[in-house]
Amino acid sequence: MRGYQPPDALEFPRFAGIRTFMRLPHVSTAEGMDVAIVGLPFDTGATFRVGARFGPEAIRSASVLLRPYHPFLGVHLFEHLSIVDYGDAPVAPGFIEDSLRRIADFLTPLTTAGVIPIGLGGDHSVLLGELRAVAAAYGPVALVQFDSHPDTWDAYFGHRYTHGTVVRRAAEEGLIRPEHSIQVGLRGPLYGPADWQAARDLGLEILSAAEVRALGLDAVVRRILRRVGDRPTFLSVDIDFFDPAYAPGTGTPEVGGFASWEGLALLRGLAGLPMVGADVVEVLPAYDPGGITALLAANVVYEVLALLAVRRREGMPGIALLGGRPEGL
Ligand code: MN
Ligand code: MN
Repeated sequence: MRGYQPPDALEFPRFAGIRTFMRLPHVSTAEGMDVAIVGLPFDTGATFRVGARFGPEAIRSASVLLRPYHPFLGVHLFEHLSIVDYGDAPVAPGFIEDSLRRIADFLTPLTTAGVIPIGLGGDHSVLLGELRAVAAAYGPVALVQFDSHPDTWDAYFGHRYTHGTVVRRAAEEGLIRPEHSIQVGLRGPLYGPADWQAARDLGLEILSAAEVRALGLDAVVRRILRRVGDRPTFLSVDIDFFDPAYAPGTGTPEVGGFASWEGLALLRGLAGLPMVGADVVEVLPAYDPGGITALLAANVVYEVLALLAVRRREGMPGIALLGGRPEGL
C-alpha cells in the first residue's frame, strides 16, 4: 500500500468513527499524499435553492459505504494512491468573493505541491476558487464539465459571482482553455437561444443531453478525450447532470437527465484523462430523501479516484510523485 488509506472495514465497522471521506485520515499538511479530498461548504452563489453548504458532510457520511477495490476497472485505490481528507475550506458564508479567495488560498499549497484536490460542494461557484488554485500550479487547464447548465451567464441580479456565471468568470480570468474544454449534458428550459450560444462564443464545446443520447456513451467519451488531449484537466461534476429521479437533492434540478449508471459509465470511460483536480458540487441534503444524491456524489468521487489510480498504475504522466512536482505537465 502506498500511504494514507482507510482502516480495514472487516476489522473496524464502517459506521463507527469520526466522519471523513471514506474514513480516510484527516491530514492538513500537503505531504505524503497524492490526492486530498476537500470540503467546500459554501452556497452563497446559489440562485434558487440554498443548503449545499451541508453537501460535504452528507457526501462524507454516504462515503463510508465505499470499498477500496474497483471491480470494473480492476484497481485497488490504495495500492496506487495515498489519499487523505484535508478537511473543509474556511469559507465566509454570505461573502462570495472573499470565500472564493479563501478557497483558492486553502487549495494552492496542495496544487503547487502536486497534490490533486477533489472538492466536495457546495454550490458550483466554488469552482472558481478551485480553478484559481489549479491554474496557479499548471496554468490554464482544460475543463470537463458534466452539468445540465453551462454556467456561462454574465450576471444574476446584477452580480457577477454566482454558480450560474462561474465558467464565464473562469474563462475571463484565463483559468481555463476553452478550446480544449467541453460541457456535457446541457438541457432544460432557457431564457433564450443565446444561453447556450454564450458558451460556444467563449470557445467551449457543448454536448446537450439529447446529443449525448444520440451519440451514445462511447462516442461521448471519445469526444471528451479528443477535446482534452494530454492537457492538464479539471473534471467538474455538477450533480444536476443526473436526472432528479437519481439526484433530487440539488439546487436547480432539470428533468430528462441521466441515470446513475450512465454517468458512472461515462466517468469510467475517461481512464487516461490527465486530471489535476476534480469536484462534485450542488449536493443539497435538505432536498435529498434517503440520502440518494449524496450517495451518488460519493460514488462519483470514487470513480474519479479509480481513474487516478488506473492512470498511476499505467505510468501515465500527470500524477505527481509523493511530495514532488507533477510529472510531465
Ligand atoms: Mn447545473
Ligand atoms: Mn453547474
